[in-house]
Order: sequence, then structure tokens, then C-alpha cells
Amino acid sequence: MRSLLFTREELLRHEAVLRRMLAQAPVFVFLTDRELRFLATAGSELAAPGLELEGKSLLDVLGAGEEPSSVLAAHYRALSGEPARYDTEWSHRTFEVRVEPAFDEEGACSGTIGIAFDVTGQRQEEEELRTSAERLRTLLETTSDAIYLKDADGRWLEANDAGLQLFHLSRAGYQGLTDVELASLSDFFREALLACYSSDQRTWAAGQVTRQEEAIPQPGASPRVVEVTKVPLYHPNGQRKGLVVLGRDITLRRMAEQERDRLLLQEKEARAAAEVARRRSEFLSSASRVLADSLDYDATLATVARLGLPFLGEWCAVDMTGEDPRVARAAMAHADPSKEPGAKRLEACVPDLEAPGGIAEVIRSRRPLVLTALAGEEGILALCDHGRAHLDVVRELGLRSGLSVPLVARGRTMGALTFASVHPDRYQDEDVRLAEDLAWRAALALDNARLYRESQEAIQARDEFLSIASHELRTPITALRLGIQRLFRLARGGAEPPWKTVATSLDGIERQGRRLTLLINSLMDVSRLQSHHIQLDLEEVDLSEVVRDVVAQLGGVLARTHTPLVLRADAPVVGRWDRFRLEQVVTNLLDNAIKYGARAPIEVTVALEDGTAVLTLGDRGIGISPDRLPFIFGRFERAVSSRHYGGLGLGLYIVRQIVELHGGTIHVESIPGQGSTFTVRLPRSFSPG
Ligand code: ADP
Repeated sequence: MRSLLFTREELLRHEAVLRRMLAQAPVFVFLTDRELRFLATAGSELAAPGLELEGKSLLDVLGAGEEPSSVLAAHYRALSGEPARYDTEWSHRTFEVRVEPAFDEEGACSGTIGIAFDVTGQRQEEEELRTSAERLRTLLETTSDAIYLKDADGRWLEANDAGLQLFHLSRAGYQGLTDVELASLSDFFREALLACYSSDQRTWAAGQVTRQEEAIPQPGASPRVVEVTKVPLYHPNGQRKGLVVLGRDITLRRMAEQERDRLLLQEKEARAAAEVARRRSEFLSSASRVLADSLDYDATLATVARLGLPFLGEWCAVDMTGEDPRVARAAMAHADPSKEPGAKRLEACVPDLEAPGGIAEVIRSRRPLVLTALAGEEGILALCDHGRAHLDVVRELGLRSGLSVPLVARGRTMGALTFASVHPDRYQDEDVRLAEDLAWRAALALDNARLYRESQEAIQARDEFLSIASHELRTPITALRLGIQRLFRLARGGAEPPWKTVATSLDGIERQGRRLTLLINSLMDVSRLQSHHIQLDLEEVDLSEVVRDVVAQLGGVLARTHTPLVLRADAPVVGRWDRFRLEQVVTNLLDNAIKYGARAPIEVTVALEDGTAVLTLGDRGIGISPDRLPFIFGRFERAVSSRHYGGLGLGLYIVRQIVELHGGTIHVESIPGQGSTFTVRLPRSFSPG
């Protein structure tokens, strides 16, 4: 039927047309039989110039070095009914050959039919593409920076080893996943991956390259600090194309920077510390110079108060303890002279040694104390040891923090040096140390000034004593000499001396001699008492008898001074005492009662009270003023002027020492102008230690 459609001429013409078309197209068509012998070929002269294949076997025409098996395999597959393809080289060109089964008119497979395309250019392009892709991958893998490529939806397309390693991801199983999806796979990197997602969003929102630093935690190691650059890529139409993420590990750089900063800081701190130390030692050496400048106690106190200002605060107080257990605010200063009057009101605010805490605690414990305002308080309550009475002054001065250090010299606590500042938390450890150093120097200077003052006072007292003593000694000597001269005159007169006058003169000489002896004994006793060289000679002694004897001995003086005396010492009061020393006690007390008794009656009583011997000596004389009363038992202490009353100021001192050596006490009550009563209590037996 078909042959009826076309005439032979027509068919030949069609064939010629087709051959021309094929000859001009870059293809080559061939037909083989089942033994793969070429039956017919047609196609481009360009593709296969001068190729005479018909009648030849496929195996014969395969190029040398070509892998025949892949070609044959493709053809066998075609023979088995499946299309196949392979590449082959010919005349320095590459052809892609597609083969299919060829069927005869009955539809049976009669061989293969193949068509070969010249793909030389395409293969070259592909090769170039592959090469450049390989180069790119090599580049990606050789760089230590982490590189990620993501698509417009944030899906990971590509990541180099460094990038995967940062998140401990394996090469398989990350592609196509977003940060959020990857986050759900790793608990450890969850946060970091979610942070990446957020930062991607910020880059897209910015629409341009962004840079930031991210810290990616690492299991079992410190986090890696990464400098991340994100480059958004867009299609020409403005649609998102993808995101390039570059991460540079700057952990070492940061560590180096941190180390450098640390060293810099260390150096700065060392410099600052050296500067502080320099200023400190300058301050302390200038303080030492200033303190060494004066030996005047009061001037030193004022200096001490000023010395630390403003270096150690705005306000300073020097509190001193003396013999008196109470504390005295000895000096105070403010750095701002205009504030001194206000600050002066704190002079009365003396620490109470009985109260807990505050400056009193510093004195008690000898330990420094940083004083701070309590929460909600404007001023430091610890500066107001009298409750809140001075809190308004502290507030006015704006004192918000304080530092108190003990003043200790030669093992003795002298008081405290207290600084206060308007700055809260002004005082640190180094300030405490500095204040302690300053206080040490100040205490030493104050102690030196005190010792100097005491030695000056002692010298003055000695001079005073020497003048009184010489006066006291001269008086009986003058009287003695007068008596002797009178006797000389009588003796030279040649006549019988008037024996009454001689007796009076001798009596006077005896009295003055006794007075001299007493004076000299007193002086010797004082020095013995001072050096603890008095030994008691204890025996059974009746105090009443001793008192009666002394009264009898002083009968002459009593008579001469017309002083009446009432004696109540009848019952014996016996104890183990030193008779001679008890006589001394009674004599001194009775001497004084006569001397200061203004000729008014003197009452002397000896009694026994609860097993203790009690000697009372009361006069109605000039009495003693209350301010002198505490001192009269001291050495060289007197309550009257030596011009009016003689005496070395030693009698009562000796009396008290003797009484105390016997384990007893002496006590005086006196009203000026009305008289004095001395009471001596002696235990009847006492073993001196
Ligand atoms: P003095 O040698 O001065 O009498 P004392 O030590 O005996 O020394 O006494 C000390 C001071 O005490 C006296 O100077 C005097 O002022 C005062 N005094 C002592 N006894 C009496 C007294 N009975 N009445 C008044 N004053 C007295």
C-alpha cells in the first residue's frame, strides 16, 4: 500500500532531501543489523567526513583506546528493546550517541538505530563548569573560614568543612534544612542556630551586607567567637536568591586582645598602685616631719587632727583616754575652715566607753573600724555616740562614711583617731592601713609630747619642791641657830645663866631638831616608798596606846597652839601592825589637824568596827576645797599655798602608803571653812604580799 503512495522518483527525491537535511544538521544517523554491522548511514559530513561505514562492524570502527564495552553494552541494551546512550570520540570531537532498537516490517527487532550528536562544545562547557566547581570546592575546603550558602528560604545548600565543624554537623544530612530545622536536631546548638536564623532575618531586613560577632558554644571547650559577614543575593527582578554567610573564627584574636587588655589593665593598676604608694609614703613622711616639729602636747593634738585632711577625709577627731576612764574629745578639725564652727558642735559628742560599737569599740578592741551610715540614714550614727543627739550636725556636714583607728603607743591605748567623709563607702582596705600608719606615728608623737610635758612638769615640781624644801629646812635651822646664839650670849656673859631662859632655849633647839629630823625622815621615806624599800616590822600593837602616846608627845604643840583635843581611845584595839609606822600615821594626821585646825577642838577616836580598827581624826579648821580633795594624798600635793602654811606636801602621801602597806584604807571628808575628818581603817591582821 505504502509503495502505492509514492512513486520511485518521489521516494528518491525525498531521500535526497532528507540526506541533504541530515548532511547539514550536526547529527549522524546509522542503522545496524543484529550483529551490529552498519547497514546504512546518513548525516553530517562535518560530523564524520569521509566515513565509510556501511558493511563494517561496529567493533571494527571503534576508535583505538576507546572503551568498547560501554558502546557495545549500549547497543546490546538497544537490541534488547531499551534505549541507551553513550559518548564517543571521533576526529577530535565528542559525540553523544543515542541508540534504540530498529524494527523490521513485521515489528521484530532487526538491529539498532543510532543517532549521534556533536556535543564537543557542550562537553567542554560541562568540563569547564566541573573544573570551576571543583576549584570552588577546593577553595571552600582549604579556607579556614566557615562558609554557608543558603537559598531564599534559608535552606542550607552548601557548607564547607569549617562551617559544618562549627556546629558539629556531618556532611550528610544538612542540605535542604533551615536553621530552625537544624536547631530541632541538636539540643546543644539549638540556641546558636536559632540566633543564626534571627540574624539572617536582620540581614534580609537590612537588604545589604551585615557584619556581627557571634559566640558559638562548643561542647567541652570555650565558645568560639566568630565574625560573621552575611551577603544577601537578589535576582534581577529583586526577588531573594540566596544568602552567603562567611564566618571568620576570631577566638584567638579576641583572646589575644583580651590578654592584651588584661596586661594593659594590669600595667595600669600597677602604675596606679605605685602612684598611690608614692603619694602614701610622701604623705606619711610629711606627716612624720610635721609631727616631729613640736613637743608641745596641745599643739601636737591640733596637728594630729589636721594632718590627715583632706587626704583621708573631710572631718577628723582625736579622742583621748586619760587616767580618767572617760574619753575626752581632745582635738577636732574640718578640711573646710568655713565648716569648722558647725563641726565644733561635735566636740561634745564624746564616745561613751560603756556603749557598744562606734569609736568606743575601737578604743576597747584596739581594732580599726569602718563606719557607715545605716540604710535609710543620711549620717553616720556611729559618730554620734550619745544617741541621735548630734545626728543633725553629722547630717549638716554630710558625713556619710567614717574610719576610726586606735591610737596606741608603747603598748598603751591612748584613744582613737577618727576620719569621716562626705563620700559614701570612701574607706577601703588601703585607707585603713594608711590611717593605721598615720595613727601609729601620731600616737608616738602624742606620747612623746606627753612624756615631755610630764618631764617638764616633774622638773617644775622638783624645782618647786626644792624651793619649798629649802625654805622648810631653813626655818628650823634659823630657829636652831637663834637658840644656840642666845645660849652663846648667855655663856659669854660670865654670870650665872638664867636657867629658865636656858631651858626654854634648849627646848626650842630640841623642837627644831625634831622638826628637822621629821623633815629629813619624810624625804627619806618618800624615796624608800618610791623604790618599795619599806619593810613592815609587824608585831602586836594596841592602836589606842599608839594614839595616846602620840597625843602625849604633841602635848606641847597642842598647848602652845591652844588647841583643845578630845581623845576617845580607852579600849585597846590590838592588831598585827608596824608600831613605828603607825606612830608616823597618827603623828602626820594630828600634825595636820593642829596645823590646819584653826585652834578649834580636834576629836580623835579609836574604835573597832566589824573586826577592823578605825581611827578617826576630825578637826574644825580651814577644810579642803573639793577640787583639791582628790589630790591631797599624792606626792608633793598641797591644797594651800606654802606662803601661808609650811609643809612639803609629803605627809598624807606617806600616810596613805603606810596604811595601804597594812592592807588598810584612808578616806577624807571635808567642807571648806568647816573642817576635815580623816578616817583610817586597818585590818587587824594582814599579810603583806
Ligand atoms: P603638808 O606638808 O603640806 O601638810 P600633807 O601631805 O600632810 O602636806 O597635806 C597635803 C595638803 O592637804 C596640805 O598642804 C593641806 O593643804 C591639806 N591638808 C592636810 N590635812 C588637812 C587638814 N586637816 N585640814 C585642811 N587641809 C589639810
